[in-house]
Amino acid sequence: MIIKNVLVYTEKKEFIQGCVRIVDGKFADPQKADANEKCMDGGGAYAVPGLIDIHFHGCVGDDMCDGSPDAIANIAAYEASIGVTSIAPATMTIAEEELHKVMSTAGQYEYRGGAKLVGINMEGPFISEAKKGAQAAEHIRRCDVSLFRSLQKDAKGLIKLVDIAPETEGAMEFIDMVKDEVVVSLAHTTADYDTAKEAYDRGARHATHLYNAMPPFTHRAPGVIGAARDCERCRAELICDGVHIHPSVVRATFEMFGEDRVILISDSMRAAGMPDGQYTLGGQDVFVKGNLAQLADGTIAGSATNLADCIRVAVKKMGIPLETAIACATMNPAKEIGIYDTCGSVTEGKAADLILLDSELVLKKVFISGEEYV
Ligand SMILES: [Zn+2]
Repeated sequence: MIIKNVLVYTEKKEFIQGCVRIVDGKFADPQKADANEKCMDGGGAYAVPGLIDIHFHGCVGDDMCDGSPDAIANIAAYEASIGVTSIAPATMTIAEEELHKVMSTAGQYEYRGGAKLVGINMEGPFISEAKKGAQAAEHIRRCDVSLFRSLQKDAKGLIKLVDIAPETEGAMEFIDMVKDEVVVSLAHTTADYDTAKEAYDRGARHATHLYNAMPPFTHRAPGVIGAARDCERCRAELICDGVHIHPSVVRATFEMFGEDRVILISDSMRAAGMPDGQYTLGGQDVFVKGNLAQLADGTIAGSATNLADCIRVAVKKMGIPLETAIACATMNPAKEIGIYDTCGSVTEGKAADLILLDSELVLKKVFISGEEYV
């Protein structure tokens, strides 16, 4: 099939007028199309790789930590409907036996359509109680290599990111031991610059929802944010929902890290795609109004947005160029979790996960492995 008359987003992070060809679920060379191939008019839309969300907890009433295949299927269906074609949902700080169940469910999950389950982001339990955010304090524990490896076994290797607070006991040794098995991220931490820098020097290479649940970046105490900036191979997650981070800070972050090192995430919880009201996250009550999700004490608890809306907010309200925002929600997350050889760009031979957006960034079509989904 050929989708003609589109602005194709390339690996060089630019749009070119042209067409996209799909053969057997993969992108193919448009030059080699034969005359009778099915043709669709893209109406001048942006043709962009399917979005990849590597940090969110749930949506449409379901949460990854529900530990059920139906929840994963519902999450995958909603995410695909808004243009996210690959997902690596995040787990919360929950009881060990529950965590085993969540990982086993994901490891055994059989694809039922919608977004592809390409990973898990293990956000708890190896974090700092002092910066727990919306994570449950009673289940926080020290970094534990054998627990991590047994969860990874349950998940059949799906855990792509593991979050730790580097100032906690055993954290540096944990990095030494697992850095070649998984991407280690600094998260929910009180670490100062020197501690965070040591963690990055020892092999950590990711920063979880930069600015949130960590000390601020100040002129004499740059903390995790400064250390992440100074570690060239480190990529940082940003929640561009208009609630978590001021637009000026988002713009400054792009200048500090460069467009190759920022990853847009939604961090959405089960209220995304649902009306305002009361929900739960990691066993705690969350009150949602518009884009704001809070615990009873006012702590921000995930978000009620989705990754496609984060791109719209970044571009339309924060002044981030569309070409940059797209890279941060497609190729950057794909590279970070090691799946860029199969998806994350409109490149010959890769899975034909594609979305069409009109000039106002309204979603027009979603293709997953070449099949029209929306
Ligand atoms: Zn999260």
